[in-house]
Amino acid sequence: MPLGLGTLTYSVPERLRGRAVVGSGVRAPVGTSRVYTGVIAAVDVAEPAFECKDIIDVSRVPVVGEGEIALWRWIAEYYMSPVGDVLRAAVPAAVRKKAFGNDKDAGRTLVGVRATIVGTYPCDRPSPYGRPTGLSPAQQAAYDDILTAYETKNTVLLHGVTSSGKTEIYIHLILKTIASGRQALYLLPEIALTVQICERLRRVFGERMCVYHSRTTDGERAEIWRRQMSDSPYDVVLGARSAVLLPFKRLGLVVIDEEHDSSFKQQDPAPRYNARSVATVMARAAGAKTLLGTATPAAETWYNAQTGKYGLVRLSKRHGDMLLPEVRVVDVADLSRRKMMSGAFSPDLLAAVREALNGGRQAILFQNRRGFAPTTECRDCGWVPRCQQCDVPLTYHKKQGVMTCHYCGHTYAVPTECPQCGSHRLTTRGMGTEKIEETIAGLFPEARVARMDLDTTRTASAHERIISEFAAGNTDILIGTQMITKGLDFDRVSVVGILGADAMLNMPDFRAYEQAYAMMSQVAGRAGRKGRRGLVILQTRNPQSSVIARVTNGDYQAFYADMLSERQTFGYPPYRRLVYVYLRHKTASVADGAAAAMSVLLRRVFGERVLGPDRPPVSRIKAMSIRKIVIKIESDADLSQARRYMLEAAARLTAMADYRSVVVHFDVDPL
Ligand code: ADP
Ligand code: ZN
Ligand code: ZN
Repeated sequence: MPLGLGTLTYSVPERLRGRAVVGSGVRAPVGTSRVYTGVIAAVDVAEPAFECKDIIDVSRVPVVGEGEIALWRWIAEYYMSPVGDVLRAAVPAAVRKKAFGNDKDAGRTLVGVRATIVGTYPCDRPSPYGRPTGLSPAQQAAYDDILTAYETKNTVLLHGVTSSGKTEIYIHLILKTIASGRQALYLLPEIALTVQICERLRRVFGERMCVYHSRTTDGERAEIWRRQMSDSPYDVVLGARSAVLLPFKRLGLVVIDEEHDSSFKQQDPAPRYNARSVATVMARAAGAKTLLGTATPAAETWYNAQTGKYGLVRLSKRHGDMLLPEVRVVDVADLSRRKMMSGAFSPDLLAAVREALNGGRQAILFQNRRGFAPTTECRDCGWVPRCQQCDVPLTYHKKQGVMTCHYCGHTYAVPTECPQCGSHRLTTRGMGTEKIEETIAGLFPEARVARMDLDTTRTASAHERIISEFAAGNTDILIGTQMITKGLDFDRVSVVGILGADAMLNMPDFRAYEQAYAMMSQVAGRAGRKGRRGLVILQTRNPQSSVIARVTNGDYQAFYADMLSERQTFGYPPYRRLVYVYLRHKTASVADGAAAAMSVLLRRVFGERVLGPDRPPVSRIKAMSIRKIVIKIESDADLSQARRYMLEAAARLTAMADYRSVVVHFDVDPL
């Protein structure tokens, strides 16, 4: 069996033999002058049939276990990325440095490490408490059903409405896992790993738990890694996506909360893995169980639960008899015609916010676009300022006084006149969170307003401050992007306004409805958590849209049935597997030529399963022109064979003289 992409064979000199075991770190020569670092994936006592070089050095103790190596190889093969990229994503830099030696060669060959931001969440403090709350009868029933389902299934979907008390159930399952001497991994989207959830778990698990996310420093990562490799590893790891790559000796349970969340998929760089898929594979290999929790399951998860691959357990009521909110749809097109809108706000929404403020309650306004205005335009000739590196309009950020590209981060001066016709009549279009904040502050001058988006949460402390101020009632109105939809638990929110529903529904992607449904349901779930029933005002120009109707009446069965039948008709996941092939080159015509040539190569094997080439919605990023080819594969096809053909096609393409410098990458199960 092949070892996976990018493994090399070496001989082990006599003096190093005792230490050379699977999982040891090594330094080895590559080519004539370079020294690379790596990990031993397999040891064979037989002489190889060909001549090979000696390794130079071996680490004193193994860096990872055999189980992790097997998982890395699975990730490398499945997601079509070199196993070395998986190693870099998994092993903290400090661990690599120690194992592989501190010399400059090791540093040089290990480039491409993802940056980490220094600083830790305050939740890493120890806590004086050590007991969970008791389960309600509904929670107890769900807990029992999960255990029953585990008798026959490895994976269970806990489909529980927002605020139904899923976290409490996770805690009890983790306690049971620990009591049987095994470890638990609890995965959450990065942005949902707030002090709220960390402290709640810290109170129960204390020092037996560690937290692992992008703000964990490299020193802390190394310490966690070493402890996981030791004989007394953590009982519980609470973490974001990359925590799935940590070593576990006795894994018993993986919980994936908000399992539908697209941030479980790594987009860039390789390996472009989905932590949800990796976790289920890893759990199966370790004989562990997986629990997927969410109020809005991903289409694939829902399908697996319906077809019996996964167990399914439901929690259909909120904890403590709280009611789900009323969702009121407001027709923005009609109100605009009748000149009844105040900017982006309908009379209903303004009245509801006013009532919330008068009653000492809070409001949340959701708009999934940051900045002040997404486009600026010349009124006389229609010129739109765009990024020089990317094929997108620039977003106006008023407070910073700049135009920003949301794809490459480049900033530009705000134009005062049109470079095309010289006109000074420049106007902005559309509405980002910054503009909403400004308008709301004007309409409700007495209200304390905060905004939560990428721009206001550059540091962990800013993120925490906004949440804790709102939770403490020191903020009246919170405006934000999808960040405010993730697992936050507020007591006093009586109204949620959804402003950008149409932009979500109109996204050119087959998952647009799925994601819009999830986002709207999740943000609606922030309303009326304690006390009385909340109100959601959903503003749209498409009040007849079926998705809007399903959100309004909470009819998820119908929503998923519609979505799945559409996916089946048009051949999308979960009925087909998708692989996107991206080709990048700085010259557009070369990218075009390469994409055409690649699609010919692919069609020879995959025929009608190949769609494109096409330009993706943003077809130039960071000065590289991008082309995309879609491959749709039957879900029961031999995938490893298919992947081999794809890699072969890429190798042939880049062997052509014209396309040598074209960058090709594959995105398997893209999101
Ligand atoms: P979910 O994860 O389903 O959104 P949570 O687990 O956050 O829901 O629970 C919602 C709220 O109900 C939280 O404030 C939580 O503290 C409370 N809660 C849930 N279960 C219990 C319980 N068994 N006893 C007391 N409070 C609970
Ligand atoms: Zn102009
Ligand atoms: Zn740009």
